[in-house]
Amino acid sequence: MSTTSNEHPIILTARFSGACADCGGHFQVGDPITRPNHFEMWRHASCPRTKFDFDPGDVCPVCFTVRATSGACSC
Ligand SMILES: [Zn+2]
Ligand SMILES: [Zn+2]
Repeated sequence: MSTTSNEHPIILTARFSGACADCGGHFQVGDPITRPNHFEMWRHASCPRTKFDFDPGDVCPVCFTVRATSGACSC
């Protein structure tokens, strides 16, 4: 068994519009989209959610700072 390109992320220009599996937002024809493998749904190549890599539930509703792992924020 040799390593094949099947494990590489696939990035292409969307030829159809659809919903991103990561953020739930829509992508349009011409947007760069990706999926980690052939069994996954398409998603934004640079998803606005995964770009920041945090859970929205970790944002303080008062100061809108993303809490550190200790739970600390700016207020
Ligand atoms: Zn997305
Ligand atoms: Zn806060």
